[in-house]
Amino acid sequence: MGLTTSRRTALKLGAASLAAMGVPQIMTRAAHAETADAADLYAGIRTFRVGQFEVTAIRDGGRAMEGPHPIFGENQDAEAVAELLEENFLPADRFVNGFTPVLVNTGSERVLFDTGLGAGARQGGLGQLRARLEAAGHAPDAIDVVVLTHFHGDHIGGLMEEGGPAFPNARYVAGQAEYDFWTHEDRLSGPTENSARAVQANVVPFADNMMFLAEGDEAVAGITALEAFGHSPGHMIYHLESEGERLLLTADTANHYIASLRRPDWHVRFDMDKEAAAATRRRVFDMVAAERIPFLGYHMPFPGVGFIETLDEGYRYVPASYQFEL
Ligand SMILES: [Zn+2]
Repeated sequence: MGLTTSRRTALKLGAASLAAMGVPQIMTRAAHAETADAADLYAGIRTFRVGQFEVTAIRDGGRAMEGPHPIFGENQDAEAVAELLEENFLPADRFVNGFTPVLVNTGSERVLFDTGLGAGARQGGLGQLRARLEAAGHAPDAIDVVVLTHFHGDHIGGLMEEGGPAFPNARYVAGQAEYDFWTHEDRLSGPTENSARAVQANVVPFADNMMFLAEGDEAVAGITALEAFGHSPGHMIYHLESEGERLLLTADTANHYIASLRRPDWHVRFDMDKEAAAATRRRVFDMVAAERIPFLGYHMPFPGVGFIETLDEGYRYVPASYQFEL
């Protein structure tokens, strides 16, 4: 669903002026619907600066699901999870899982972190990254680098479009450990089978044009990869620094702003190694809290940017407000 010329026109003119021009009522209604649609498109785009870097958080979509328990707090009683959620004004039986890829324009390159769920999820209202990138002024062929934090489906789903590369001029960056894990032949059977097949379809075709990173390696100048293993065996996060300003892209280190941060040790079904993921959560968010730097989490409430305060037990998530407007 691209923002077509007719949509742009409808947006510019608005329904009232269309009616004034004698456009039949039925068309006015259609224009209304499309305008609302386009407004949603723009609502999922948030741009701010980190030094010279222009950072754009893009909402690929949000999915309402049953839970958070037992996805979050898998090793806890449902009552304990419900109590924490209710204390924080959240329902205990439903939650929204959001997906937020990030575009960083360094001034010389456009670097996209993760690709959302892709075309397969578009009928359900997700997979909006592509349309929103375009709406934000970044055509798919203008993307120079695609960085993959890890290879779960909600991060690699948007690499292909209609059987070809979704970002035809991009080079690719991924963690060496993540690539080695998912492309090992043992992964093609058992519980990893579906994910491994998705990796074969979406990631492996780009291997010849892929740079493989380990701890401390730079994806591009000013953007450094850090190991954050546990959620997946080679899960990487990225530290941005420009003119002394910093932002940590924490990807899937913590995936619910209350359950995962207030109770970082609770097991999470999506974490492939539960104990390693919990240890990584503590290490990463201890650092975010101690250094008082902003972070952006892929599954935090859109636009996913916030700060961390250490509490007696776990952490408090403090969503960013106007810090980036000053
Ligand atoms: Zn994810």
